[in-house]
Amino acid sequence: EASFSQKDSDASHAKADYLAKHYGYTEIECLDKSAVLNLIKSSRYSGGILDWGAGHLHPLRYSLGLAKAAEAAGTIIYEGSAVEQVQDGTPSIVHTKHGQVKAGYVVHATNGYHGSLNHKQATRVLPINNYLVATAPLTDPQSVLTKNIAVADNRFVLNYYRLSHDNRLIFGGGESYGTKFPRDIFSKVRHPLTEIFPQLKDVELTHAWGGTLGITTTRLPMFARVGSHQLTASGYSGHGVAMAGFAGLVLAETIAGNASRFDLLSKLPGPAFPGGQALRSPIMTLAMTWFSLRDKLGV
Ligand SMILES: Cc1cc2nc3c(=O)[nH]c(=O)nc-3n(C[C@H](O)[C@H](O)[C@H](O)COP(=O)(O)OP(=O)(O)OC[C@H]3O[C@@H](n4cnc5c(N)ncnc54)[C@H](O)[C@@H]3O)c2cc1C
Repeated sequence: EASFSQKDSDASHAKADYLAKHYGYTEIECLDKSAVLNLIKSSRYSGGILDWGAGHLHPLRYSLGLAKAAEAAGTIIYEGSAVEQVQDGTPSIVHTKHGQVKAGYVVHATNGYHGSLNHKQATRVLPINNYLVATAPLTDPQSVLTKNIAVADNRFVLNYYRLSHDNRLIFGGGESYGTKFPRDIFSKVRHPLTEIFPQLKDVELTHAWGGTLGITTTRLPMFARVGSHQLTASGYSGHGVAMAGFAGLVLAETIAGNASRFDLLSKLPGPAFPGGQALRSPIMTLAMTWFSLRDKLGV
């Protein structure tokens, strides 16, 4: 985690100390400005932390691997069949456009897409869109990152990046709220990319994409019962690659008869966003604009 100011760097070092002292987690190295510069070839950062116990992965390959493992265990995956309504009961009945499924348990794993299916949770989990680009393979990747690490910085609208196996820089930055994606994702992400790495201002960007994730007001995930035999877990607030897998385990335990971890996690505070489903996006746009202005002003 790279920090823009000395104050933020001190706060991240304090977090590392806290984890070591209270949880015995000692894998985090505290970095000063020159140590960060040895790893990340950007003069923008004042310090940070490096977690040697963490890792990064190729998320599409991970998803495909999970699907393969689920199918090998007997799961049938129906793609392109959006659920339109769930009728609670024993069993519950799940309605799609062309058919119905009877289910002993229903898990709503729709994260940033709770939408009309799940009004109550939709007020607690706000969909936001986030964007990435990939550069052409870099001839000198060491001029950007000197180790095979994944970086996130500490801005409210954060930047995050890593090198691919073929030495492209995959860089994420910039968000939007609501259902629309910007027309030109390349330009949207080139701006923060160039701010962090001015040496890449003319680099060719070969790919650009975006997706929708779910955030909560507290940035804590939301576990809830949404019917007699209906469960949901979502709102991982940008940490879902690891957290959604863990949530899957907790959901499976619950269905198998041991709800202790699910019930504990359901107690995490999860207030609704102001404005309800209709007004929360415009209100959030205002709030996020304010926070990104603070990022720019460094306050
Ligand atoms: C651009 C981007 C970058 C990210 N970067 C990171 C990162 O660096 N690290 C990290 O930890 N997390 C990151 N995340 C977040 C992470 O991807 C999510 O937290 C994670 O995918 C959540 O998994 P999930 O299975 O709960 O939900 P999702 O992966 O969002 O899956 C929800 C599924 O529900 C389906 N669905 C929606 N509505 C219906 C319906 N009505 N009927 C049936 N199916 C429906 C959707 O098609 C989708 O397949 C990022 C997300 C985005 C978009």
